[in-house]
Amino acid sequence: MYSATIQKLIDLFSQFPTVGPRTATRFVFYLTKKNKEEIKELVSAILELKRKIRFCQLCFNIFEPKEISQQKCEICLNPSRERSLLCVVANEIDLAAIEKLKKYNGLYFVLGGLMTKFKKNDLEKLRIKELEKRVREDSAIQEIILALNPTTEGEATALYLEKILKPFQKKISRLGKGLPVGGELEYADEETLKSALEQRK
Ligand SMILES: [Zn+2]
Repeated sequence: MYSATIQKLIDLFSQFPTVGPRTATRFVFYLTKKNKEEIKELVSAILELKRKIRFCQLCFNIFEPKEISQQKCEICLNPSRERSLLCVVANEIDLAAIEKLKKYNGLYFVLGGLMTKFKKNDLEKLRIKELEKRVREDSAIQEIILALNPTTEGEATALYLEKILKPFQKKISRLGKGLPVGGELEYADEETLKSALEQRK
């Protein structure tokens, strides 16, 4: 019912996380009211994102390199971070939530999502092989903290990772109790997340 140009943009916005067709349609009509300069600014900001943002070679966090040759993020490059601790998170948002607490001084590994069920293609989307490689090659790691959502998906992923990581004989811990069951890490309040991290086991 919309023109091909409008429909194409609706389809593109509909692919965004949490955006359904109705919100996508609102976005498109919002854009039709913008002038050319404002549209240019938006387009170039998106292009800049793709041009400037990189994935850290070590932890897969996104970062903006200070120089072209930089392959690791600021956290991995920081010599004052505790290299014996590796905190596994589902995504960059969870990493940012933990960083914001200023309580954790170890390193991270961004898994790239959670398992929805024990499905093979779910696993392929996650950085399981990369995590194994990291743990195998980094002898400084002593403890692996699985900081995953207290949801069915988070639980399934944690169980799978425990199985996969067992042969490396490192201490494997999980966030302590207190996080609302079924909730997500990124929405947990700071005090609750802080105590869950401190009381990990
Ligand atoms: Zn990194």
